[in-house]
Amino acid sequence: MRVIVVGAGVVGLSCAVRLAERGYDVAVLARDLPLETTSAVAGALWYPYRAFPHDAVLGWSAATFTELTRLAELAPESGVATRWGTELVRGPLTTPWWRDAVPGLEPLADVPAGYDGGWRMPVPIVDMPVYLSWLVERLESLGGTVTRAWLASLPVPGPHLTVVNATGLASRALVGDQTLSPVRGQVVLVEQVGLHEWLLDQGEETALTYVVPHQGVIVVGGTAVEGAYDPRPEPATAQAILARARRLVPELRRARVVGHRVGLRPARPAVRLEAERVAEGTVVHCYGHGGAGVTLSWGCAADVAAEVDRVGSVSDAASR
Ligand SMILES: Cc1cc2nc3c(=O)[nH]c(=O)nc-3n(C[C@H](O)[C@H](O)[C@H](O)COP(=O)(O)OP(=O)(O)OC[C@H]3O[C@@H](n4cnc5c(N)ncnc54)[C@H](O)[C@@H]3O)c2cc1C
Repeated sequence: MRVIVVGAGVVGLSCAVRLAERGYDVAVLARDLPLETTSAVAGALWYPYRAFPHDAVLGWSAATFTELTRLAELAPESGVATRWGTELVRGPLTTPWWRDAVPGLEPLADVPAGYDGGWRMPVPIVDMPVYLSWLVERLESLGGTVTRAWLASLPVPGPHLTVVNATGLASRALVGDQTLSPVRGQVVLVEQVGLHEWLLDQGEETALTYVVPHQGVIVVGGTAVEGAYDPRPEPATAQAILARARRLVPELRRARVVGHRVGLRPARPAVRLEAERVAEGTVVHCYGHGGAGVTLSWGCAADVAAEVDRVGSVSDAASR
């Protein structure tokens, strides 16, 4: 059976790899190639941020934690590494709802001034430009393809063609889903200055602070502004991000700024992962991962592959 995956962000590529591994003939079509997507802007830390509902997100993020940890061990060239880090918390320290996904979670012993507690944990972090390129190579090695194509509507599926819709925020226009909305995020890239650990302070509603070190650069964030579409980095916001991060991680004061990025998180009251019968075939939707597309990617890809398998077994039964 042929599968067209629309979208070449982390969600589309992960689905495409899983489907190609199961023997499907997979073609990815995308307006933006992987390094041009929102996914390429992400930090990217394994952390279930602004994705719902929590029970499904817990399962998807636990599955992804396991897979990314495996990649960090067996395929470090993928850009995935497991690193210790700290989440700082103000107010009462309650056990995170995603606790069961992170085996190494422990309370922070030395709490810095201004905070009431925190957590220490080793989690996968993903150098997205490296990782997205690695996913494309993996897909191509399995016979799949990635082609630039700006589609005005989803391809029409049929008895021998299933379509996976992994277009993120663009599903608002593409399938008329008005429950999707952007949560704008801005980050600053600085040169690596020997930092190994990540740090997160969810701070205020619109201004969070995170520092995610990769081999070549450190991603410093960030913001989360609901309903904002402007893709241009704002200089004043970049200064505020750096000032917050430098207060928490003084080593960053000597790190040269090497870039600025903005991305629009595809927020939705609930991730949409479901099969829809269209004409003679099926579209499997997988979008609306909010601030956690990387964190949910492999878990969602497994469920999408299971939906596509179900379509295949139903049409096999119908043709007998
Ligand atoms: C600043 C920032 C930091 C983040 N940090 C993290 C993090 O630390 N951890 C984490 O897990 N997540 C993080 N996220 C969230 C994560 O980036 C998103 O959840 C994820 O990128 C969504 O992936 P996606 O594949 O659904 O969408 P996208 O990456 O947006 O990909 C959508 C694809 O669909 C294609 N497409 C759209 N419309 C069409 C069309 N009409 N025709 C053809 N193709 C089309 C696009 O071109 C693109 O290829 C962050 C996001 C931002 C902005």
